[in-house]
Amino acid sequence: MCASIQAPLLETMPIRRYAKTLFSKAAWHAYNSYRKGARYRSRFSQAAAVLDAPRETIAAFQKEQLEKLLQHAYQTTPYYRELLKTETPELSQIPPLEKKNIRAQWDELCSTTFTADQRIENATGGSTGTPLVFYQDRNYWNQRNLSVYYFDRWAGWNFGEPQLIIWGATADLEDDGHWKHWLGNFWRNQYRLNGFRLTDAAMLAMFEQMNQDLPQTILAYPSSLYQFATFLSDNGLIPQWKLKGIISSAEMLHPHYRALAEITFKAKVHNRYGGREVGLIAMECAEGRMHINARDLYLEIESPDPYTEPGEILITQLNNYAMPFIRYRIGDVGMLSDEMCPCGSQLPILAELLGRTTATFRTRTGTLIHGGYFTRQFYNLVGISQFQLIQETFERCVLKLVINVEWREEIRHHLVQKIQEVLGADVVVTVEFVEDIPLPASGKREYTISKV
Ligand SMILES: [Zn+2]
Repeated sequence: MCASIQAPLLETMPIRRYAKTLFSKAAWHAYNSYRKGARYRSRFSQAAAVLDAPRETIAAFQKEQLEKLLQHAYQTTPYYRELLKTETPELSQIPPLEKKNIRAQWDELCSTTFTADQRIENATGGSTGTPLVFYQDRNYWNQRNLSVYYFDRWAGWNFGEPQLIIWGATADLEDDGHWKHWLGNFWRNQYRLNGFRLTDAAMLAMFEQMNQDLPQTILAYPSSLYQFATFLSDNGLIPQWKLKGIISSAEMLHPHYRALAEITFKAKVHNRYGGREVGLIAMECAEGRMHINARDLYLEIESPDPYTEPGEILITQLNNYAMPFIRYRIGDVGMLSDEMCPCGSQLPILAELLGRTTATFRTRTGTLIHGGYFTRQFYNLVGISQFQLIQETFERCVLKLVINVEWREEIRHHLVQKIQEVLGADVVVTVEFVEDIPLPASGKREYTISKV
């Protein structure tokens, strides 16, 4: 009886791999129970129930969450007490929260009900070319993780099943060689390929390992996914992994990236849109629509008609009470759709997303460097309001900076050194101080450009 139930599983999964998956599922459960409390499974079901609800129920949930947040923001943050004037303001009348407001009025934005040890510092450098540091609280992180678990299932992900992750790692600590990372990857059943430095040797080694361990999903930067797929197809290496799906995140998924990845890996690519400031914003379903994570955030388009005319995306994060972001201008442009998706999800749809682009740099010796390596250098750096790095030739780069009062000359040396570390010590880095780095006509911000 038992054997007949398990037979199909064993057919597709060698016993060692099946045992590893079972172990990893148990480890995930233990980890989540430890981090999020024993009730995390019921919390996950509650979260899923909201996300699976009819559109009117979702809208009512959002309205209630918004009212609570506005009240909290008014009562406990000096910034919003001054700005809102009332506990029940009209949302559309609230001026958008700009990155410069966050920098200038950092203390006033923090809720007085949170002590320093209840706040978790986070930062962004990459996604919009404007570095920013901010606080989030434990509940924000718990909710964010529940949403990631929920939406990644659309791409076939599940706890403990083997996953290939092609993501950036800059510090030695993040490398697989470090025992803590090795252990973390082991119990999660994840295999990591460093997307910042994709060498032929590393890609070949990972291909061979994956032929043994058979990932069920891939999570990757779109440009890294494309590079890996290009390498495999150029070398006649055909993955036979029976993937359930691929999640691409953190930068623009260009149509040619998607096309090559879907042919090479024989699985659908699901685009995931998010930001470190607000969490998971939208995820692509099986029918190719980007559904908005309406449980965690309220998304608006700054446009006379958000259904026909694209505009800047404004996000109100509904769970982060430590430092509320209300109508936060994230720096991307988009448009809404009011259609009902054939996939069955009634979450609102982001029809068009003109987001971010990341270049891939190339050294004279042929090594490819992901643009994310450079933007990562700007995390937690004060003194810089905006940046853009342009690789003009193999020998020369231009770093454009919009600086502020906290700028110090040492930062220049630090950045130049970090750029030369990967592109070559003899590469000339010209630093240009500019007033502004305007958005190009395409609406897609370019914080790294390579002309090589
Ligand atoms: Zn859908």
